Amino acid sequence: LGNQISSALAAMSNTTIINEETVNNLLKEVGNALSKADVSMNLIIQMRKNIKDKIKLDQMAAGLNKKKIIREVVFEELIKLLDPGVPAWKPVKGKPNVVMFVGLQGAGKTTSVTKLAFFYKSKGWNTAMVCADTFRAGAFDQLRHNATKAGIPYYGSEEVKDPVMVAKKGVEIFKKEGAEIIIVDTSGRHKQDNELFEEMKQIETSIKPDNVIFVMDSSIGQAAYEQATAFKTSVKVGSIIITKMDGNSKGGGAISGVAATKSPIIFIGTGEHIPNLELFNAQTFVSKLLGYGDLSGMFNKIQEVIPEDSQSLKEIASGKFTLRSMQAQFQQILKLGPIDQFIGMIPGMNNMPQLQGNEGNLKLKAYINIMDSMSEKELDGKKPINQKRMLSLAQGSGRHPREIYELLEQYKAFEKMIGTKGPGGFSNLANMASK
Ligand code: GDP
Ligand code: MG
Repeated sequence: LGNQISSALAAMSNTTIINEETVNNLLKEVGNALSKADVSMNLIIQMRKNIKDKIKLDQMAAGLNKKKIIREVVFEELIKLLDPGVPAWKPVKGKPNVVMFVGLQGAGKTTSVTKLAFFYKSKGWNTAMVCADTFRAGAFDQLRHNATKAGIPYYGSEEVKDPVMVAKKGVEIFKKEGAEIIIVDTSGRHKQDNELFEEMKQIETSIKPDNVIFVMDSSIGQAAYEQATAFKTSVKVGSIIITKMDGNSKGGGAISGVAATKSPIIFIGTGEHIPNLELFNAQTFVSKLLGYGDLSGMFNKIQEVIPEDSQSLKEIASGKFTLRSMQAQFQQILKLGPIDQFIGMIPGMNNMPQLQGNEGNLKLKAYINIMDSMSEKELDGKKPINQKRMLSLAQGSGRHPREIYELLEQYKAFEKMIGTKGPGGFSNLANMASK
């Protein structure tokens, strides 16, 4: 899915004329790709209509970067598809929160139960796990093994074969013990069958979960919509976890899962181990889907050097961005090491060819030095820099006047982006980074 969409977008980038036909072709490609990932036809038609409504070619001013706008609209619409419009479930303090996991066999339920319990345990919650999978031999052993490894209390039974009874008993015990989050693992089947759904309904009725989490393997592909619908029809699915995102799949099926269950994705599984669970982030997800690179990885890296209350991040987020903020930003980026590895991922800096390659760090340093030669007023945007001043700045910093020009052009480009609230907009990304 991702490849198809990103190649469609790339094809668009290669054409110079953007007209009705280019847009139609692009939307057709995007639609085909989504349909292959089993997103319902209705949804695709709606999405295409939304995109067309947003892209009014004849009303776009001549100077606007139309390709960029179209790319952003596609991005936004994909993010919308991942947003069911209901807030993600969160446990409530001061009461037992009962969570029930459902999904097919092998989807990653038992693994994710442990990951989630561990996630909340690390945040100071009192968690517990219950094994209501009495169907598969060895299921309780697996849960016991996982729970022990994670240091989390668990309940299950070797003898009792009725999953409803085990679930009920386990929840009762942990409620009495004052557990705050009680996670109930259930059994799956290789195929969706009535026996499984009947069992899920009975467990749900018996334990009255505060949240039902549907676990879906990211590589499920075409079957996603139908499978998610089947679970949603039998129990009150409220959230989704997509597993095995560390594999080859880009997770296009997740969009169908959201559409079918009208539930948000809350976490993604990124490995077999207990800490391999990440909070879901639609921006990052769509970036990956479209092949934009791993933004979250970069933000983690940036966060290592930029404190959450960083002045420049705040300024960017609030839409105030001066040369001084840009200089601070450049200094932080420089701290990240060789910039050629990630500069292409930073919005607004990916169109600076002079920063790409081995010389990028030196160039960035040169820009910082040029800004050192500026006056306070110039840095704060209170005094414009004219051509004559550009020449004296070049002399003062020992750089070529062309570089002063490049730098100021770059600043202008940033300034323009700051106003953009779209997903590709810089203020939005700054908000993300400072979260
Ligand atoms: P269940 O039948 O739904 O309970 O599935 P399990 O939790 O037993 O997981 C089935 C297999 O998938 C196991 O081998 C897990 O280690 C593996 N698995 C689960 N989640 C992930 C994940 O996020 N990444 C990877 N690579 N493997 C996973
Ligand atoms: Mg299991």
